[in-house]
Amino acid sequence: MALLKGAEALARWRWPSFRPEEVACRGLWPRGLTADRIVADGMTPGILDSALVVDEDAMNLLQETRTRLGFPLFINSAYRSPAHNREVGGKPGGAHPLALGFDVAIHGERLVALVLLVTRDLWYDVRRGGWTALRFEQKDATLLASRYVHLDCLPVTVPPHWPRPHFGSY
Ligand SMILES: [Zn+2]
Repeated sequence: MALLKGAEALARWRWPSFRPEEVACRGLWPRGLTADRIVADGMTPGILDSALVVDEDAMNLLQETRTRLGFPLFINSAYRSPAHNREVGGKPGGAHPLALGFDVAIHGERLVALVLLVTRDLWYDVRRGGWTALRFEQKDATLLASRYVHLDCLPVTVPPHWPRPHFGSY
């Protein structure tokens, strides 16, 4: 798994359904800034390197999931800097600070399609990898936007917070 940071990630961006600002750290990336404006507006390289971290394999898996579903996936949270991860109550060894996890806002029929695809074709397999966790947060009956699933591809060999592959709920 190769991590790309900052300008290198921008230069080697090849995931057409996702923009860098969608998967950058929400705690560090300036709100409202789009990746195509970075060069024009200037952005401290150190901040860019800290805010934008992607794992190529994880992004390939996210893009394959999106492409095969055929509808947009809205990312609530992807990479988190260690500090932002603490702020939002994330676990230190979790998938988000390693750029391996995505919280996708989804519910209803689209959630059914996602679960069918992931469990049938993109679930972890020792030969070809895949998602190693799918965790539901679907409790809120009134505010649909707060319903999401967490998907990640943390290696099954990493001492986990949940035994992996993990299919469960919050
Ligand atoms: Zn998550």
